[in-house]
Amino acid sequence: MNTPIPYGKQHITEDDLKAVTETLLSDFLTQGPKIAEFEKAFAEYVGAKYAVALSNGTAALHLCAMALDVNEQTNVITTPITFAASANCIRYCGGHVFFADINPNNFTLDIDAVEKLIASKPSGFFKGIIPVDFAGYAVDLEAYRKLADKHGLWIIEDACHAPGGYFIDSNGNQQRCGNSQFADMAIFSFHPVKHIACGEGGMITTNNEALYKKLLFLRTHGITKDPQLLEQNDGGWYYEMQTLGYNYRLTDFQAALGISQLKRADDGLARRREIAARYEAAFNNKAYVLNQSGSVSGHAYHLYIIRTEQRKALYDFLRTKNIFCQVHYIPVHTMPYYKGLGHQKGDYPLAEKYYDECLSLPMYPTLTNEEQDFVIRSIHEFFNN
Ligand SMILES: *Cc1c(COP(=O)(O)O)cnc(C)c1O
Repeated sequence: MNTPIPYGKQHITEDDLKAVTETLLSDFLTQGPKIAEFEKAFAEYVGAKYAVALSNGTAALHLCAMALDVNEQTNVITTPITFAASANCIRYCGGHVFFADINPNNFTLDIDAVEKLIASKPSGFFKGIIPVDFAGYAVDLEAYRKLADKHGLWIIEDACHAPGGYFIDSNGNQQRCGNSQFADMAIFSFHPVKHIACGEGGMITTNNEALYKKLLFLRTHGITKDPQLLEQNDGGWYYEMQTLGYNYRLTDFQAALGISQLKRADDGLARRREIAARYEAAFNNKAYVLNQSGSVSGHAYHLYIIRTEQRKALYDFLRTKNIFCQVHYIPVHTMPYYKGLGHQKGDYPLAEKYYDECLSLPMYPTLTNEEQDFVIRSIHEFFNN
């Protein structure tokens, strides 16, 4: 039997090990110089002014919501096809989550559905939108910015799936995911299944200095030692906790791993695009594949998704071949917790139909052509074609 082929996998090199062990033997275990170095390198990579490293992507979402003053009166729109954290961050702050249906062609939040939802409520009802670069497909944030400006909304871009992804704006320029040209803030995750692994880790990028400063505060308990900000100063030991924050720090050795991984991010992305092109070629004339991720310029291919009516049987068949596909995602509004808040199955038919048919195929830079060919052959075999 072949060795198991998962849908995603991290890749740790000798250089990564060296970076981590060197940092472990340095003076700083938790937040030290590697954090600033990682933040600077990551901000440059996505083309944003500021970056704030955090303990995970969910913490990043939570601090974005806090920095934007989300509270019990705040209504926010996001997509039902995402990891639950994209919505949960609003709940952490007591706010209310509204979903809009997806675009069945690229599986991301449908801007027309968002516009309709906004129009169905009184002016000022909504405060923000959280679009997700789902699977690595870069959302057209220029269009979202226009809509948001019309209604006075903020935007948090959930770019967990899309480091290195981009869309083409109306001037023909590439706009990188997370460059915060159009979003107020963007967030990333460094969970091992994502493009860059820190074990656990997250990042917020922004071009807004006021938000950046707020985030630094919130990351460490709302504490400051900055003499210019202190209300009084009792001496060298003195600090003030000025607002209620958290401990959402990343450790220095995780940042060292992140820096080392970031250096290979473009190579990994190029390989992901190659794999995507091979899948597309294998399935583009197959009637049993209703729809697939396809080769879209700027796609970061965190996931490669095909849609088929026989999804469950195919999933089970591939498992017998030691191929472990995955389903992304169970619609968030159908989770028992969200049903408890009044959301119902049937609310977003396109998202639910997508869920019935979607399957994420193996997609990671170290997947070999031979392994991918085996995956493709096995799918052809299942459909006898
Ligand atoms: C992974 C992920 C998150 C959460 O990141 P963690 O680092 O696991 O907390 C949020 N949103 C999306 C779309 C994700 O894929």
